[in-house]
Amino acid sequence: MGFVTDESPICSAKGCRAPAVWVLAWNNPKIHTPERRKTWLACEEHREHLSSFLGVRGFLKDVVPFEEWETSSAADG
Ligand SMILES: [Zn+2]
Repeated sequence: MGFVTDESPICSAKGCRAPAVWVLAWNNPKIHTPERRKTWLACEEHREHLSSFLGVRGFLKDVVPFEEWETSSAADG
């Protein structure tokens, strides 16, 4: 019960161990080239918190469901 493997994506919020269901793609124009994407993972509860954190800084580019992100990055290969 509650067993989580190393494979399981976990929310990026501090102290949160919930499974990630969202991918937040972001870019800091001061340190990253425009096409570069950093990603944070978020559970349902922290999606809004993390996306507003990035949003107020103008870093947030995209919020996509984790499954969709995996599929599209796999297809990209
Ligand atoms: Zn969380």
